[in-house]
Amino acid sequence: MDIKLLGTGAAEGWPGLFCDCVVCTHARNSGGKNIRSRASALIDGVLKIDLPPDLHMQATRYGLNLRDLRYLLITHSHDDHLCPTELQYMGQWFVTRPLPNNLQIYGPTPALNRIQREVDISKLPVCVTPVSPQQVLNLDDYRITAIEAAHDPSQLCLNYIISTQDGTQVLYASDTGWYTEETWQFIERQRFDAVIIECTKGPTPTDYSGHLDMFQVIEMKARLLRTHSIALDTPFIATHFSHLGRSTHEELECALLSHNIVTAYDGYELSVSAAKRVVLAP
Ligand SMILES: [Zn+2]
Ligand SMILES: [Zn+2]
Ligand SMILES: [Zn+2]
Repeated sequence: MDIKLLGTGAAEGWPGLFCDCVVCTHARNSGGKNIRSRASALIDGVLKIDLPPDLHMQATRYGLNLRDLRYLLITHSHDDHLCPTELQYMGQWFVTRPLPNNLQIYGPTPALNRIQREVDISKLPVCVTPVSPQQVLNLDDYRITAIEAAHDPSQLCLNYIISTQDGTQVLYASDTGWYTEETWQFIERQRFDAVIIECTKGPTPTDYSGHLDMFQVIEMKARLLRTHSIALDTPFIATHFSHLGRSTHEELECALLSHNIVTAYDGYELSVSAAKRVVLAP
């Protein structure tokens, strides 16, 4: 499974559009990995996670042709993860020849309702299917399991476990919050070859419980290690960072490296295979 993180920033982007804090100023001056666009991932060139407002920039920046997309998983309806009007450019008025596939869109009902409110999907090559927590989707090449995030009490938000036929399994967790015990018990029965998880607040905890800070991400990793859901060398990748965490990319990298956690950046790529999995003694 080839994963590319097209966007690794939180809602307001990094630098924040209207922010001149030290971190944003450093980002504007230094560029590179300190520039983060909104949350977006692409798997094997055919499976997209989330549809952020930066998608055009991301596709252009990485030379992506999105005509071959087959599946779109939406995590939740927040603006940084879902910009429904981008879908209109799949329509016959905006392409010189029809798309080869109907894009199958899956997500929680509030997100799909938003798409249907903002775009007339009857004229687009898409089909939309609501997903519930712990529901399994058997797509041609992937087995997708939705799990409930603890991100926004006003609406259902999902994270996804993505598996391929060779047994490779990845947890994509953004936006997340600290899972409920029910979700924990479900994921602790799984085995992951990589975990991609939000670390929105970096080293600066706040009272807001809908996002994770660095210490919670470290605790999550420890818990998954205890239940053998991951091994010590399983790639564990932090993403969806906010400048409000008050750390530059370099500072985050330094802080997370000692916990063997990767600080993702826009354009980060990872190739994951169950064949590389370390077999644990029973
Ligand atoms: Zn977000
Ligand atoms: Zn800032
Ligand atoms: Zn969100």
